[in-house]
Amino acid sequence: MDSKAQCLLEARDVSKVFPGRGRNGSEVRAVHQVSLSVRRGESLGLVGESGSGKSTFGRCVLQLHPLTSGQIWFDGENVTGVRGRKLRSLRGRMQMIFQDPHASLNPRMCVGEILEEPLRIHHSKERKEWSKRIAKLVDRVGLPASSIERYPHEFSGGQRQRIGIARALAVEPELIVCDEPISALDVSIQAQILNLLKDLQAEMGFSYLFIAHDLAAVRHFCDQVAVMNKGEVVEVGTAEQVCLAPAHAYTQRLLDAVPTRWLDWAETRPEDR
Ligand code: ADP
Ligand code: MG
Repeated sequence: MDSKAQCLLEARDVSKVFPGRGRNGSEVRAVHQVSLSVRRGESLGLVGESGSGKSTFGRCVLQLHPLTSGQIWFDGENVTGVRGRKLRSLRGRMQMIFQDPHASLNPRMCVGEILEEPLRIHHSKERKEWSKRIAKLVDRVGLPASSIERYPHEFSGGQRQRIGIARALAVEPELIVCDEPISALDVSIQAQILNLLKDLQAEMGFSYLFIAHDLAAVRHFCDQVAVMNKGEVVEVGTAEQVCLAPAHAYTQRLLDAVPTRWLDWAETRPEDR
């Protein structure tokens, strides 16, 4: 395979500075010269403490923030600052799953409407196919068919995240940016959602940019891991390399902070999780 086909997303020297909200009204250098790439069908984990710039980087990738400098390339094309029809087309190819499923779902829309919205915006499939598609999505993320008529507040946190996942999948994206998708969930639910995300990827072949502050969750989920500290990537490598032989003291500190439940999770066989 040539490199264009393999490399789906490439960030080149991406920087993002926010004006005047830092200490003493100074600017915030949220992301500084970050270069990373994600291959087709693979997952890149982006880990770092809170405030290290992970979400800002994710938003730069999705063109939700204008970049201060640098470029985002997607499928061999420079998509930095695209607008109009090109931006809409890009939005259909890249989707996001948020940390807080409650805040990211419109409380006045039932699940059927929530899932119909992306299909309508992106003219994905013919209208007569939508209800079939929605029923399939609901089933695929493990929700009962009756969910379609219900509203977000009627669901648990884990179920709401399943709705958020179904919404991201609706347009059959090539890249999904997951911004701490399990951090707000009960511990007992976290592994279920992680397994669902992994199964869906195996089935559909899309790529993940998987943002987390928990290095252990990322280790068993991602092919590559990048470690971010104060807006900069301090280390990048295979999940094994970064977790077993961290080159940077900051990475070691993140590893030391790993909750033991993930070590237990990793030791169970995938079919038992
Ligand atoms: P993380 O996701 O790793 O916790 P963020 O990307 O949310 O980090 O934030 C990185 C830095 O950028 C923080 O100092 C944060 O306060 C700042 N920041 C994030 N978004 C904005 C914004 N819209 N305006 C100003 N500062 C922001
Ligand atoms: Mg964040």
